[in-house]
Amino acid sequence: MNPNQCSFCGRKRNEVEVLVSGNQGFICNNCIEQAHAMIKDGSSNANTAPATSLDELKKPKEIKATLDEYVIGQDQAKKQLSIAVYNHYKRLLHADQENREVEIEKSNIIMVGETGTGKTLLAKTIARELNVPFCIVDATILTEAGYVGEDVESILSRLLMVADYDVERAEKGIVFIDEIDKIARKSDNPSITRDVSGEGVQQGLLKLLEGSIVNVPPQGGRKHPDQKYIQVNTQNILFIAGGAFDGIKEIIERRLNKQAIGFSAEKLNKKEEEEYILSNLNAIDLRTFGLIPELLGRFPIITHLEKLTKETMVRIMKEPKNSIINQFRELFKMDGVDLRFSDDAVEEIVLETIEKGLGARGLRGTTEKVLEDYMYDIDEITELQLTADIVARKIK
Ligand code: ADP
Repeated sequence: MNPNQCSFCGRKRNEVEVLVSGNQGFICNNCIEQAHAMIKDGSSNANTAPATSLDELKKPKEIKATLDEYVIGQDQAKKQLSIAVYNHYKRLLHADQENREVEIEKSNIIMVGETGTGKTLLAKTIARELNVPFCIVDATILTEAGYVGEDVESILSRLLMVADYDVERAEKGIVFIDEIDKIARKSDNPSITRDVSGEGVQQGLLKLLEGSIVNVPPQGGRKHPDQKYIQVNTQNILFIAGGAFDGIKEIIERRLNKQAIGFSAEKLNKKEEEEYILSNLNAIDLRTFGLIPELLGRFPIITHLEKLTKETMVRIMKEPKNSIINQFRELFKMDGVDLRFSDDAVEEIVLETIEKGLGARGLRGTTEKVLEDYMYDIDEITELQLTADIVARKIK
C-alpha cells in the first residue's frame, strides 16, 4: 500500500488536505466527505454507482416510473427523456466493448416549455437517479470568447466541481443548459455584425457538444494566464437544454398552415389545438426561432412540455414524494403542530399562483406567504386547518 496516496481515489498526499491512515490503507478528506454524503443520503455505493452492465441499467420504463414519483404530468417528455437517457448510457457501455464496429452517436436533448413546467426538475431527477454529476448553467451568462461574461468552458468547470474534480466521473455527467432560447440569433436585426449574446455563443457551445477534448480552467469564469487547465473529453457528457421559446407556437402554426396538411380542417377546441400545434414541433421551428443548424444537429431529440393546468398544479401540490404540502406538514410537525390543507385551500393557492404566471415555481412562494403568520406564531398553536377563506385572506 502506498503511504503517500489515497487508496480510494489515488490522489497523492500533496494533492489533498488530509490523508488518514487505517489498518490496510489511506483515505483523503475528499473521499471521506463523499462517503459521508452517501451515508447521509441513505444510499450506498453498491446501489448508486453508475451501471457497469446492461442488466444494471434501468430500462426506460423504470426511469419513467422514477420520474413519475417527482414530476407530475409531462408524460411525453418523460417518455422521450427516459429513452434518450437509457440509450445514452447503453452507448457508454457499448463504447467500452472491444472490437465494436458501429459507433453509436449520442443524443442530446432540447426541452421546450414555459417557465416552471418541470424542465429543470426532470433533468435533475434523472441525474440523481443515475448518480452521475449534474450541473445547471444559464445560457444567458455565457458570452463569446473575449467579451465580458463567462466563456463556454466555464460550464465544464462547474461539472468538474460537482464531480469533485474526478475527471472520469465528470466525463459521464449531465449538463442542463437553461434558457437556451435566450441565445437565439436575433434575425430581425441584421445590422449587428457581431451578435455577442447570440450566434457567437451558439458557435462556442458547438465545441462542447461536438465531443472534443476541451481545456477547462479549474476555477471557471475568466481565464488566467497562470492557471493550469484540466482536459475534459465531452464525448460522453449528456447535454440537456431547456427554454421557453416564447412565440414558438406561432412559428409552428405558420409552418403548418403553409403546408396545410388538413390542419385547419380539424375541429379542435382551443386547448387541443394548442397541444396539436406544439406536438408538431421540430428542428425547423427552432431554426426559425434563431438556433443555428449546426447546433440543432447536435440536439437530435426535441421534446415539449405541456402548459400546467389547474388540475396538474393541484396534483403538484399534493402528489410528489416531496410535495409542498408534505414539506410544510413536516416543518410544522417538528413543532408539534398538526397542519392540514383542505382541498379548496389547495385550489385557492393554485389559482393565486396561476395569476402570477410563474408556473409551478410560484406554488411554494404562495404557500409560504399564506403560512407566514402561523410560522411566526408557531409556539402558540397546536393545530391548523387551512381553508380557502384563510388562504384568500392571507394573500390579500
Ligand atoms: P422550468 O421548467 O422553468 O425549468 P422547474 O423544473 O425549475 O421549471 O420547476 C420549478 C419548480 O416547480 C420545481 O422545483 C417543482 O417544485 C415545481 N414543478 C414544476 N413543474 C412540475 C411538475 N410537472 N411536477 C412537479 N413539480 C413541478
